[in-house]
Amino acid sequence: LAMASRLPSIQISMRSLCDLELLATGGFSPLTGFMGQADYERVLEEMRLADGRLWPIPVTLPVEQSSFGSDRIVLRDVHNNPLAIMEVSEIFSWDAEREALAVLGTNDPRHPLVAEMARWGKFYAAGRLYVFNLPRYYDFVDLRRTPAEVRRLLTAMGRSNVVAFQTRNPMHRIHEELTKRAAAQVDGSLLIHPVVGMTKPGDVDHFTRVRSYRLLVEKYYDPSRTLLSLLPLAMRMAGPREAVWHAIIRRNYGANHFIVGRDHAGPGNDSTGKPFYGPYAAQELLARYAAEIGVKMIPFTELVYLKREGRYVPIDEVPPGAEVATISGTQVRDEYLAKGRLLPEWFTRPETAEILRQMYPPRHRQGFCVWFTGLSGAGKSTIAAILNILLLERGRTPTILDGDVVRTHLSKGLGFSREDRDTNILRIGFVASAVVKAGGAVICAAVSPYRAARNECRAMIGSDQFIEVFVDTPLEVCEQRDVKGLYAKARRGELRGFTGIDDPYEPPVNPELVLTTTDVTPEENARKIIRYLEEKGFLEG
Ligand code: ADP
Ligand code: ADP
Repeated sequence: LAMASRLPSIQISMRSLCDLELLATGGFSPLTGFMGQADYERVLEEMRLADGRLWPIPVTLPVEQSSFGSDRIVLRDVHNNPLAIMEVSEIFSWDAEREALAVLGTNDPRHPLVAEMARWGKFYAAGRLYVFNLPRYYDFVDLRRTPAEVRRLLTAMGRSNVVAFQTRNPMHRIHEELTKRAAAQVDGSLLIHPVVGMTKPGDVDHFTRVRSYRLLVEKYYDPSRTLLSLLPLAMRMAGPREAVWHAIIRRNYGANHFIVGRDHAGPGNDSTGKPFYGPYAAQELLARYAAEIGVKMIPFTELVYLKREGRYVPIDEVPPGAEVATISGTQVRDEYLAKGRLLPEWFTRPETAEILRQMYPPRHRQGFCVWFTGLSGAGKSTIAAILNILLLERGRTPTILDGDVVRTHLSKGLGFSREDRDTNILRIGFVASAVVKAGGAVICAAVSPYRAARNECRAMIGSDQFIEVFVDTPLEVCEQRDVKGLYAKARRGELRGFTGIDDPYEPPVNPELVLTTTDVTPEENARKIIRYLEEKGFLEG
């Protein structure tokens, strides 16, 4: 450890951190370090390590530079904690297109790993690894186990057969069917082994999933033959090759059977709308290597639900004329979660449905930010005050961030230079984003003259939650109103850099709403905003 502080060090990505952990714990056995060029080349071409053993996926450490000026480097996590020392024996350049074609079978940037690889370092570093710290976890600690710990628990269950189940999604009734049928088929124990490292971007987060897996296993599985354990794997979404990899990894955890259903580890559709991999391509590839791995595949044809009979059957065994029920992943999100509807019991156990509903509240319980922009005296604060009342009437309790008020507290001391104005706006945006994330309604009313700063706030808050309202009052009218006497001062030269007089105002290009105030009353405008929020679903009907 003392030595670690004197060596050059690099921070490794989340993906490399996951890989490092499985290299260190034996999850990736026989691999014990990041791959050198000989292993890498043969893995790409033949799915084998240089010594001939089967290995379908490159496990490499991307780095930016071709030399570190030292034969040892320290690998650190994003918080700079030292994890390992690597004796660097080689650094080699690699070709993203070639690797993607060989491993993923595609160069389409719609593939999440293809997109990610474009941002990796241009070299791979390899060499003997000394891991002295494993990543620390604070969540679900009781479910995080090394391969040796899992093997011990499985042995204690006393069955010679162990079926492993891979998943990166919430487990619905269909997954329950697959797992229970497979375990019964071989009279084995069941290892429910969800991936909690990295999955496909946009997947349901692991906190939500693990909470639901835990309840599901407690309530619906036989405790004497079921083990739930978390796998800190960084998935590649490589379909067939990934299925072979998953089987090797589960063998390391003590399984001798592995479930592969429809479209195993598939990332969905490519940019032409076609699936990246055939629905059963993963089964076909694993079938060729299962014996060599020492794991029997338990294949499943897509299961579907027969409505009248109330049971699941393989899609090729549906009796003619029978009514089949399905809910796609997209429908789960758009038709159920987004609308606050509970998933039906034939599809998902009520405990799982309830957790999903809590974590994906309907729009009317999500946060949003109404962002007023316009010249001083345009009418922003006046309309905002009425909007506040109308939102309170509808059961929302808005946080109001008024430019003038913010400048007396949060932004006290800031002036009106471009830099200070930007700082002020970004502070408002920062607070607004925190409130919106916690599910609150926010009303911001500040001149916010610069487009770039407003767009940064939009990005911070999230475009779907950001409602930019341009209060489009002509300068002459604002100047005539001159509520605070500021225009007169600016004209007399007593105030410098006043927006509209000697500082620019950049109107929004595509605001969600444009309000005029010379022909429309403040109340009418506030009600327009309410109607907009209703249409978008932010207010309960
Ligand atoms: P991934 O395969 O990316 O981990 P899932 O968590 O959705 O994604 O799937 C876990 C396992 O369940 C995979 O083996 C998959 O093929 C199988 N599976 C999922 N849905 C079905 C289904 N409707 N019919 C058959 N098998 C399925
Ligand atoms: P801002 O917050 O945009 O600087 P204020 O709301 O403080 O502007 O001031 C706008 C002034 O214009 C208020 O005195 C308000 O009464 C007056 N006003 C007149 N007509 C309207 C209108 N239709 N909408 C908003 N304000 C109006």
